[in-house]
Amino acid sequence: MSDERLLCPACSNTYPPSERFCEDCGMPLVHADAPATQASERRKTARKINPQYAEGRLVKVARAESGPEAEFIAGLLLEEGIPSMVRRAGGFDVAEFLAAGPREVLVPESGAQAAREALDFQSD
Ligand SMILES: [Zn+2]
Repeated sequence: MSDERLLCPACSNTYPPSERFCEDCGMPLVHADAPATQASERRKTARKINPQYAEGRLVKVARAESGPEAEFIAGLLLEEGIPSMVRRAGGFDVAEFLAAGPREVLVPESGAQAAREALDFQSD
């Protein structure tokens, strides 16, 4: 909590907390720590993805019984560097099933083999 500086979101100039607006571009200043933290989280996620696993058409590698289960699988795959996409399984287009319906987890073709191995390792 020692860093009390304010930051211009447009040009990244920093100012003491007595200032309200950027002298250069007039943008309202924000606290210096908040946006930087979010940006580093995004970088962390992006760095996890292995570009080698991000090529080709999407293929289905797993089926989940619910959205949260699918998100869990997607998280496991990301730990292996494999980007994935979750979509509702066919036949559940009614709005009531949006949260609860089964899901399919898809990954790029080049990551499918690694994804199946990662998921086999997890299943019983
Ligand atoms: Zn500025």
